[in-house]
Amino acid sequence: MLSCLILGSGPAGYTAAIYAGRAGLQPVVYEGLQPGGQLTITTEIENFPGFPDGIDANELMDSMRKQAERFGAEVRTATAVKADLSQRPYTLWFDDGTTEQCQTLIIATGASAKYLGLEDEKKYQGQGVSACATCDGFFYRKKTVAVVGGGDTACEEATYLAGLAQKVYLIVRKPFLRASKTMQERVLQHPKIEVLFETNTLGLYGEEGVEGAHVVYRKGEADERRYDLPIDGFFLAIGHKPNSDLFKSWVKTDETGYIITEGDSPRTGVPGVYAAGDVADPHYRQAIAAAASGCKAAMEAEKYLQSLG
Ligand code: NDP
Repeated sequence: MLSCLILGSGPAGYTAAIYAGRAGLQPVVYEGLQPGGQLTITTEIENFPGFPDGIDANELMDSMRKQAERFGAEVRTATAVKADLSQRPYTLWFDDGTTEQCQTLIIATGASAKYLGLEDEKKYQGQGVSACATCDGFFYRKKTVAVVGGGDTACEEATYLAGLAQKVYLIVRKPFLRASKTMQERVLQHPKIEVLFETNTLGLYGEEGVEGAHVVYRKGEADERRYDLPIDGFFLAIGHKPNSDLFKSWVKTDETGYIITEGDSPRTGVPGVYAAGDVADPHYRQAIAAAASGCKAAMEAEKYLQSLG
């Protein structure tokens, strides 16, 4: 039986593994579906402290992994498909047919940005398509970008990007924004942001990366209009889905599925079970914030194991 099992290999999972490893817990990290986590779908990270010249996202995650392994963490490649947290030891089933039991569990399974489902989103991933303005916005200084979505995230991302880009289109499928009043006003009054209401994206085009989007105004209506919107970057902001489905019977989640922890701790309410990183963070969703919560989760796990004697 494992004393500390960590699900997820983003900044939260690996930081938890570094701390748990150094505490002698011999943690086992399951990488999950996206080894290295969401960061690996971006290119360069410029806001992770300690790297004044920025760092390649994959290199950062490789370093975290090596650091965790140096302290005895074992990294496995499977993905959890079922969990039983009704009693300790907790049981996890994996997609490679294995089962593990553990005394403490750190859920660091992250969240996945929602995409429209267009083939072109995959084609241009990392080449003009992004789901994180804070991560990638910097590369679009003085360029033209589009943000898809009409909620608070979309408005926030559009405003952030407008501080860098020369022009930002906000592509909204409804005739109104769903965001809070303040955010709406900020967007609607911003001289660099143009809101394209009742507009949907059909595809993207470009030789080397995104050069534009095929869009349609009032699809299916008498005044439907299809046209091409020249852009350099295409940002999705249509929501995130926390990867918490497996645990919903055991831990509290909010209406979107984010795991609710106790105060600012990573404790879930199930003794010895912690949630760290984006799976429990609807607000900040930053690598450094995830790393911090991974650290807290490992420290809590260590304390809990000590209390068991
Ligand atoms: P929301 O669910 O609030 O908004 C998603 C937006 O994306 C909606 O406008 C929705 O359109 C649109 N959308 C969804 N699917 C598609 C699609 N397939 N094609 C086109 N458009 C689509 O998500 P957010 O991430 O914006 O916000 C999540 C929560 O976090 C909210 O409660 C929000 O208030 C909160 N938040 C708060 C912030 C703050 O207070 N500073 C900052 C960021 C988020 P439609 O309206 O038609 O459904």
